[in-house]
Amino acid sequence: MIKKSRKKNLLLIIDMQHDFAANGGSLYVPGAEEDVLRVAKVIVKHDKAIDHIIFTQDTHHVLDISHPGFWRNEKGESPEPFTEIKSMQVAKGEWIPIEDTGYVLNYLENLEAKGEFPHVVWPEHCLIGSVGHALVPPLVEKAADWARKGRRYEVVQKGINPMTEHFGALRANVPIDDAPETQLNMVSKSHYHVAT
Ligand SMILES: [Zn+2]
Repeated sequence: MIKKSRKKNLLLIIDMQHDFAANGGSLYVPGAEEDVLRVAKVIVKHDKAIDHIIFTQDTHHVLDISHPGFWRNEKGESPEPFTEIKSMQVAKGEWIPIEDTGYVLNYLENLEAKGEFPHVVWPEHCLIGSVGHALVPPLVEKAADWARKGRRYEVVQKGINPMTEHFGALRANVPIDDAPETQLNMVSKSHYHVAT
């Protein structure tokens, strides 16, 4: 007998962390709590239909290319959060990275050539191991209830490489050749066909 396998459903929950989704978080998005509750309801309502849950978790070191402490001006001051930094400014020495200027210049040129995002210095956020880094409780609680019935959810960290920003869920904005954590995410790729 040929058993017809049904399609599997993955629920991918992107960056539902305190710093983005809880009031007081360093990059809090107003209204995010309601989204959190909506997603929590989806987990409960579609309990049986969900085969797998993956949370992505934005994860940064303090000195990250997108955090103020990575940069100095001629006076030794770091930029204010939300400052845009362009490759020309680095070439002129207006903004100086704390390390590897050649790489950083090349990174910014790549980003500008893609034309998708400017390079923005964010407030420090999702610092590894901090409260801001943690996933928001309503979702973890519902995912745990779902998992108690014999399933497993996964957490995939992104952004840990301090030399490249990582907006997408699946790979860094400018992947680095010898840094697999910046390339297409292997955890999700191994289980699912991921369209990119
Ligand atoms: Zn980030």
